[in-house]
Amino acid sequence: MNFENSRREFNRAKNLMPGGVNSPVRAFKNVNRDPIFIARAEGSKIYDVDGNEFIDFVGSWGPMIAGHANPRVVRALQKAVENGTSFGAPTKLESELAELVQEFYPAIEMIRFVNSGTEATMSALRLARGFTNRDKIVKFIGCYHGHSDSLLVNAGSGAATFGTPSSPGVTDSVARDTICVDYNDIDAFKKVMADFGNEIAAVIVEPVAGNMGLIPPRENFLETLRAETQKSGSILIFDEVMTGFRTPRFKIQPDLTCLGKIIGGGLPCAAYGGRRDIMEFVSPSGKVYQAGTLSGNPLAMTAGIETLKILKDTPDAIQILTSRTKKILDAWKSIAEENSIPIRTTQAGAMFCIFFTDSKVENFSDVEKSDLNRFKLWFSEMLDRGIYLPPSQFETIFMSLAHSDDDINRMIAVSREVFEIIRQYVSRQEI
Ligand SMILES: *Cc1c(COP(=O)(O)O)cnc(C)c1O
Repeated sequence: MNFENSRREFNRAKNLMPGGVNSPVRAFKNVNRDPIFIARAEGSKIYDVDGNEFIDFVGSWGPMIAGHANPRVVRALQKAVENGTSFGAPTKLESELAELVQEFYPAIEMIRFVNSGTEATMSALRLARGFTNRDKIVKFIGCYHGHSDSLLVNAGSGAATFGTPSSPGVTDSVARDTICVDYNDIDAFKKVMADFGNEIAAVIVEPVAGNMGLIPPRENFLETLRAETQKSGSILIFDEVMTGFRTPRFKIQPDLTCLGKIIGGGLPCAAYGGRRDIMEFVSPSGKVYQAGTLSGNPLAMTAGIETLKILKDTPDAIQILTSRTKKILDAWKSIAEENSIPIRTTQAGAMFCIFFTDSKVENFSDVEKSDLNRFKLWFSEMLDRGIYLPPSQFETIFMSLAHSDDDINRMIAVSREVFEIIRQYVSRQEI
């Protein structure tokens, strides 16, 4: 495959934008390659500026569950554009999308639309703090909730309970209000709640972690979060920006839910919502301030409405996506075994992941201990054979309704070639 035009575009972009991109993971730094620049996409396929075709298993990091340029979404958008692209005033579309969201998430009694997942989690935390009149929050290590200051926090070193900034520019005083706990560590979480429960405004979690590879919650993890937050009067926030509409429903009901990605069908839209008594605290009905010039934008609402309608019209969507995903994982397991390459796989609905390790993967440090060099080789060889995967071990692979049996079979056939290549590297002790 020739990547000449992508290379030229990357050089041009690097001079204009930090790292040549507008969001870090796109720069392919984790896999030591130059990024490919996209020209267009349709269905399950994505095309770069050199004319190479790839089967896309990133789907814009989740939103494109109905496939790229889905004809229903495109037609609805074309009509919407002609009616004007932004009014800064209420429209029927907002209530229409809100009602559709409720059909999927009955616990979302009221909702507020925003423009990004970052805004959704940031605003939900402010709301939880305003509602409880408390300052501290708990987050889990390796969960990503966007880039607002209180969430760009790492666990403090050693025995320190309070967080430290994970990015320059985040102040210590903000970080100190964030307590970090290992994902899936029920005992550590219980201890934090026993020590600080009545100071904690909110516990925020990805109910299935999708930003450290894919890590499902272990048994009783979410149940414990629910029970402990209920006891302490803290707000439980499920960050479903990635998992929303893509995984089977969880048995546990949070107080607030953050949505994004799919809810905007590929346009900038996200939301937070939940219990009516809490949401009534948001301005203008309450005093917790939050606003947005483009919030509820008619184009974003339209793409979201059409995408959710497609999901609604495909009642077994999650099962279809799950079984396509399982087919790939089953193939990977047997091909890996044939080649004596230890792997672990994880899956939740239309999300899946591969780790090059023979140990369990239940939290962030487990992922760090997996073989990242094998992942890099795997990614690169797959890309060169027309399979576009997330360019980092710390990301999830996404399945869409547009992926055909042919796409899945092609993915499996390419995987077979690539596992054999990895085996050759291993036997030469080059990796
Ligand atoms: C993507 C993501 C976010 C951030 O959403 P943006 O729209 O990128 O700001 C927040 N939480 C989770 C779980 C995500 O996957």
